[in-house]
Amino acid sequence: MSREQLEAHLQLFAELGVEGFRREPEWRTRLRPDETPVGRGLPAPPEEAPVAIFANAADALAVVRVDLGPDCQRCKLHTLGRRQVVFGVGNPEADLMFVGEAPGADEDLQGEPFVGKAGQLLTKIIEAMGLTREQVYIANVIKCRPPGNRNPEPDEVEQCEPFLFRQIDIIKPKVIVALGKFAAQSLLRTADPITRIRGREYKYRDAILMPTYHPAFLLRNPSAKREVWEDMKRVRALLQS
Ligand code: URA
Repeated sequence: MSREQLEAHLQLFAELGVEGFRREPEWRTRLRPDETPVGRGLPAPPEEAPVAIFANAADALAVVRVDLGPDCQRCKLHTLGRRQVVFGVGNPEADLMFVGEAPGADEDLQGEPFVGKAGQLLTKIIEAMGLTREQVYIANVIKCRPPGNRNPEPDEVEQCEPFLFRQIDIIKPKVIVALGKFAAQSLLRTADPITRIRGREYKYRDAILMPTYHPAFLLRNPSAKREVWEDMKRVRALLQS
């Protein structure tokens, strides 16, 4: 790591309000090291469909990816300039899942969620929690980039959301962090402002869902990083409980 990178890293930690550095092994080790994936299946299928059991969550996620298809045309976004479907990335058995709004320009180019500026900040927050991007799972409410980064529209969410639900039900995270107003309101089916719901814990599909501010908001409002760090400390505690 260069001196500039180290300075930037320490500055972020100062902005987040990270106090000291943890040396305890549980902050370094994977959260669920030895769990055997055998027996993980798809979520409850529709009535009368044969039950598909997969040896592991990665295989089950691969089926969802195939079902979605590389050139999904279920909503109008495929006619509005999206380059590719951005499925999701990370550990298929993650205890912690982050859900954002929709791919932006960088994600649309690279085919991976949260790889632009906001994504780089998210990666640093994950690392400040003692985790890596590879240990968590990252996805969005919708999988294609809306033109001009406008909010996803209801028909787009309606078509795409079932695939996110299938991902969640396969991964079975303990905690889901909804990043920003759109993801939080959309997942929780609420119009409550993000300032009210942020930092609260909601029961959601066998997980605990915590809304927090979107990293893009943090880039514009660095002082809000402290609140996000408070939320992430609580998430960390929930993961360890
Ligand atoms: N913003 C999001 O909500 N998701 C991404 O993947 C990138 C930016």
